[in-house]
Amino acid sequence: MTINKYDLTGKTALVTGGSRGIGKFIALELAKAGANVAFTYTRSEEAAAQVRQDIALAGAEAIALQADAANSEQAVDVVSRVQKEFSTIDILVNNAGITRDTLLMRMTEEQWDHVVNTNLKSVFNYSKACIRTMMSARSGSIINISSVVGIAGNAGQTNYAASKAGIIGFSKSLAREVASRSIRVNVVAPGYIQTEMTAGLDEKILRSITDQIPLRRAGLPGDVAACVLFLASDASSYVTGSVLSVDGGMAM
Ligand code: NDP
Repeated sequence: MTINKYDLTGKTALVTGGSRGIGKFIALELAKAGANVAFTYTRSEEAAAQVRQDIALAGAEAIALQADAANSEQAVDVVSRVQKEFSTIDILVNNAGITRDTLLMRMTEEQWDHVVNTNLKSVFNYSKACIRTMMSARSGSIINISSVVGIAGNAGQTNYAASKAGIIGFSKSLAREVASRSIRVNVVAPGYIQTEMTAGLDEKILRSITDQIPLRRAGLPGDVAACVLFLASDASSYVTGSVLSVDGGMAM
């Protein structure tokens, strides 16, 4: 009998920002692999209800929780509700993220704080809230969604790039702290992926981005979700502290 190393039956995954875009595809991919999935969102209530239904159709259990990822008290509450419902958390995907792009000259302190708190402090909030459970279980997989911008930088995104580069340093440090307990911490760094976050870009900018991608196409949320499944599952049991670029070759 062959063992399916991607099988997540009996596992519980928590995905922040799972109502739309990449997070939605991650939630569904993990559910299709057999995991029970809890996910958070802030505003998109209808979309969250739809994702819950889609997960149920995939044969998994789902809970959707409204919580601001930047809020540490809400993170503790979310994690305890997920534990109450599913009794464990085996996989944490820190996906929630926003942009507030502008040149540094014009960037307000509010724009800086909002992006850094939502994208980076959230990773601290949820990792901290989950780590004790994973330590006692002596297993776990944390996957943090960074960006090609955190590796290469991008004009107009000092706040976003700082938050995404911060995620990489955070993840490598935590990977070293918890490896002896068989907890793995990895980063996925998407390039240009077609979601609502990137939908506002104009044709010209879009074409110039695609021209810089060796695989000559924009990425799809499913391209990222497939890599998250790999890092969540036993297929990657010897992988920790790594940064997996999912960018069509953009930042090699
Ligand atoms: P979207 O804007 O399409 O979706 C973002 C998701 O996060 C939504 O479910 C949104 O739900 C949720 N969210 C936003 N703010 C919060 C918050 N404060 N607390 C909890 N949930 C929140 O973004 P993408 O899917 O494009 O991006 C997902 C991740 O991938 C982000 O971390 C992003 O930085 C990263 N990324 C995206 C790239 C791309 O090209 N799209 C490229 C590289 C990285 P709601 O609105 O209801 O809160």
